[in-house]
Amino acid sequence: MNRALFLDRDGVVNELVFYPSHGEWEGPRNVRDLRMRAGAAAALREASRAGWLLFLITNQPSYAKGKCSLEDLQEVHSAVLDELKGAGVAITDSYVCYHHPESKLEGFGACECRKPSSFFLRQAARKYDIDLAQSWMAGDQDTDIVTGINAGCRTALLNYEHSREKRGTAQPDLICNDLADLVRKLD
Ligand SMILES: [Mg+2]
Ligand SMILES: [Zn+2]
Repeated sequence: MNRALFLDRDGVVNELVFYPSHGEWEGPRNVRDLRMRAGAAAALREASRAGWLLFLITNQPSYAKGKCSLEDLQEVHSAVLDELKGAGVAITDSYVCYHHPESKLEGFGACECRKPSSFFLRQAARKYDIDLAQSWMAGDQDTDIVTGINAGCRTALLNYEHSREKRGTAQPDLICNDLADLVRKLD
């Protein structure tokens, strides 16, 4: 069986963006706002060399909340994958939840895939023959940790500066500064 590193995207692989209109740091709503996090690609190349299969698992509710178009979000996600590919990082697969439980847009409301649901991790595990107990879920928010716990994975919380208020209650196995720090500690 394979071992996986499941990665949250925003605040892990790319930077969050401050949108004054909502007064919050969020994932990029537009490809022009996309900045990759320094050192992320190098860390992921290293993890890949060590045999970890890499996956992105991300909630992208901005269209469901009426903040941007679905195409914008899809374009951002493609751009993240392109950036990683261009930097020599092999992402095995990526999974995006575009829903939000309070959305009024038909088809974009309640779902079974939004983190902290383990839906996408279990789907990946079946498709790629992954041993979840030997795998890791890493993210910058408590919900990422709960996602990993729900899937029976080990969990790592990344101390990203702009998502500080979204951490503090979950119980991760590891607390790291960033992906480089995490990859050094993986076993
Ligand atoms: Mg995040
Ligand atoms: Zn969903």
